Amino acid sequence: MKATVDSVKFLMMQAYHDPSSKLSEKQAKLANRIALKFRMNQPYELKLLFCKRCKEYSPPVYFKTIRVRKGKLIFTCKKCGSVYRIPFK
Ligand SMILES: [Zn+2]
Repeated sequence: MKATVDSVKFLMMQAYHDPSSKLSEKQAKLANRIALKFRMNQPYELKLLFCKRCKEYSPPVYFKTIRVRKGKLIFTCKKCGSVYRIPFK
């Protein structure tokens, strides 16, 4: 189980180097698939990379706008246009 957590963390770190590239999209999707497959808790940073509504890869700043209000992050997805909130951590 520890190896799984490590590999998900490693893929996530790699994905954050250049979030707009195709490679990081692949790495983030792979990390997400591993996390789902082994039913581990999805890391907070990984949740930020995907849209809550359309489940597509949408890194903040590039495919999302972020606003902060009342201790919550308000995201607007540029792919599907949905607005959703995630507590600030
Ligand atoms: Zn979306």
